Amino acid sequence: MRAVLDHVGIAVRDIDAALAFYRDALGLEIEAPEDVVAQRVRAHVIPVGQAALELLESTARDSPIARYVEKRGPGIHHITLRVEDIRATLTHLRARGVRLVDDEPRHGVQGSLIAFVHPSASHGVLVELKQAAPPRSTLTSQRVTLGDFTLTTLHDGLFRLDGGAMFGVVPRTMWERQTVPDDRGRILLAMRPLLVEADWGRMIIDCGLGDKMDAKSIDIYGIDRTRHLDHALAECQVSAGDIDVVLATHLHFDHFGGATTRVDRRLVPRFAAARYVIRSAEWDDATHPHERSRASYLADDFVPLEGAGVVEFVDGDTEVRPGVRVVRTGGHCANHQVVFIESGGKTAVFTADLIPTTAHVRDVWVMGYDLFPMETLAFKKRFIRDAIDREYLVFFEHDPIVAAGYIREQNGRRYVEQVL
Ligand SMILES: [Zn+2]
Ligand SMILES: [Zn+2]
Repeated sequence: MRAVLDHVGIAVRDIDAALAFYRDALGLEIEAPEDVVAQRVRAHVIPVGQAALELLESTARDSPIARYVEKRGPGIHHITLRVEDIRATLTHLRARGVRLVDDEPRHGVQGSLIAFVHPSASHGVLVELKQAAPPRSTLTSQRVTLGDFTLTTLHDGLFRLDGGAMFGVVPRTMWERQTVPDDRGRILLAMRPLLVEADWGRMIIDCGLGDKMDAKSIDIYGIDRTRHLDHALAECQVSAGDIDVVLATHLHFDHFGGATTRVDRRLVPRFAAARYVIRSAEWDDATHPHERSRASYLADDFVPLEGAGVVEFVDGDTEVRPGVRVVRTGGHCANHQVVFIESGGKTAVFTADLIPTTAHVRDVWVMGYDLFPMETLAFKKRFIRDAIDREYLVFFEHDPIVAAGYIREQNGRRYVEQVL
């Protein structure tokens, strides 16, 4: 394992006095300060060669840095080592019995991933591990073989939803350790449809948000489709016209908005040669929304498909194509379903909004958006137990970093071993 010194964090009580020394007396250049809102700290970075010093100034009386200074006085707070693969590093350390503060990496500033080692393991020094921002290419098409199938995780860009709503009753102090919200309280999410290639044809499970959103919605949801589904398909030499089946987990706009597109002001199926497989009961719910579901079901995404005669309705839990089976979870919405893909004795599961990100592998981390959260909880508990015991390859449709992985459990703690 290779680690390089990234920076040394120094907790200061009086920033002006500290600057008088580091900047004026030593003559070092100091970068513009950066606020880490979640930690209520302002960081003044001082580059010193390959590494940096980071003066940490508290911005609230009860922040972790303020408490630290109060208890121990100003001084070295932590050192940060940069590693290439933080998950592999954590697995490696865990296997050697090293006590960790974070069993799983959380999101740091500028898209980095960080995790702390417990000071008792690192001889009294708080050690932060850091993996620099993943290249934007985490949103690339990545392939894996499952028996006779080829599975390719696609992408339709990024968007943002309210962090509180994404984690339901989980307090912000807990979820913001996993993912840092922006100044509007929103967290970064991806849309990752899945391409299944089999001898019976090409299926895409969900199809992203599509291109019909207006400027107001683009702003509200922080939609960034600089790279979208067409790019993703092109990366694997497939075009929209090559898709034979489009399977919907449910009809919410962030999953099925890409089903239709506007051509000369007319809404038409985006995948010209495809059959669109939709659960009948979900169709009924989507076409009869109520106050609580109206914002998520946009008729333009699915109604034109019926007029075009391309919908294949299915009832109940069933095998929609050989090796591809849908199972109703309910919970998120009454007829939300996940997709089991089985071949050669192996199982992959596309979990859609049952486990939208890797942070949601904890049983009670259930979205506030869910219409029937207790139903989500019950299904998820059973499902995750099976996923661990039977080594399902689990796809996380909304995770901005991990597209798929194995859910593992060690000493009662859960984590995801990233595969894609
Ligand atoms: Zn949904
Ligand atoms: Zn969703």
